[in-house]
Amino acid sequence: MPPRHNAMNPRYLTLATAFRALFGRRAKKIPLDAGGSCPNRDGTLSRGGCLFCNAAGSGTGLYHTGFGLRAQWDRLTPPARRRGEALVAYLQSFSTTHGPAARLAALRAERAALPEVAGIRLGTRPDCLDAEKIALFAAAPVAHKQLELGLQSADDATLRRIRRGHDAAGFARATRLAAGAGIGVTAHLMAGLPGEDTAGFLASVGFINALPVTGVKFHNTLVVAGSSLAALHEAGGYAPMGRETYVAAVAEAIARLRPDIVVERINADPAPGELLAPAWAADKRGLLADIAARLDALDIRPGCRFRP
Ligand code: SF4
Repeated sequence: MPPRHNAMNPRYLTLATAFRALFGRRAKKIPLDAGGSCPNRDGTLSRGGCLFCNAAGSGTGLYHTGFGLRAQWDRLTPPARRRGEALVAYLQSFSTTHGPAARLAALRAERAALPEVAGIRLGTRPDCLDAEKIALFAAAPVAHKQLELGLQSADDATLRRIRRGHDAAGFARATRLAAGAGIGVTAHLMAGLPGEDTAGFLASVGFINALPVTGVKFHNTLVVAGSSLAALHEAGGYAPMGRETYVAAVAEAIARLRPDIVVERINADPAPGELLAPAWAADKRGLLADIAARLDALDIRPGCRFRP
C-alpha cells in the first residue's frame, strides 16, 4: 500500500528532510533578531518599506532592547538542545547584510560566540549583497550556510508596484554570486501580490528554476496592520487571493518546480495580532491540509510538470 501523504508527510522535499540528510539528525532553526534595518526603511532607497511589510520587518525587536544574539540564543535553544537537535542560527529580521561589510564582520564575531552552531541562515535582499559580504559569509566554519533571499515576484512591473526597490536581474546576480561561493539560496516568492494573478506567480517559479536556487518559500500575501497594503486594502484598492486559488496555485507551483529544490514553506504565518486579511490565512493547519489533499487528488509529484 502506498504511503499516505498529508500535511505532516508531504509529497515534496521538505527542509526537515534536507536537514536530516545533512546533519544526520533533526535540526532546529533558531530565529534571531540582529537589529539593523533595510534600505527600504532607513532612507537608502526609501522610508516607506515594501508595500506588504510593516515597521517590524519580521523581527522581534529584541536586539534593540538589550538582548544580543547570545542572550537570545541562550533563551531559545534549551528545548532543541535537550532533544539533541542540530542548531541553525537564523538571522531573519529586516535585511541582515544591509550596510557596510564591517557591520557584517562585527555580527559575525558576535555570532561566532554562539555555542553549538551547526548552520547559519541570513535573511536579506539581493541588493544588500556583494562579493565582499559573500566571501565573509562563505568563510563561516559551519556545514550549512544559506541565504534567504527575497524575490517575491520575477516580474519587474510587480516589483515596482510593491516598491521592492530591486529588480529580478539583481536577484539572479546575487544568487549566482552566492552559489559560486558555495552558499545555498532560498528564494522567497509571494502569491496574490497586487496586480498579479496565478500565472504571474507561476512565471516566478519558472524564473527561479533557471537559477542555482536550492530552496523556496511560498507565501500567500497577507494584509498586515501598519503596512501600506493595509491602507490600499482599506481603500478598496486590493483584494487578497482567495483560499482555493492559493491552494491550487501552490500545488501547481510544486508540480512545476525543479525537483531538487527544497520546499521550505508553503504558507505565510502572520505575527500575532497583525493579520487584517485574508481571514483564512489564520487557519494554517487547515490550509496545509488542503494543499496536501490537492497534491494527492491530482497525484502531483515535485517537478512532474517541470520543463527545463
Ligand atoms: S520586506 Fe524586507 S526589504 Fe521590504 S521593507 Fe520589509 S524588511 Fe525591508
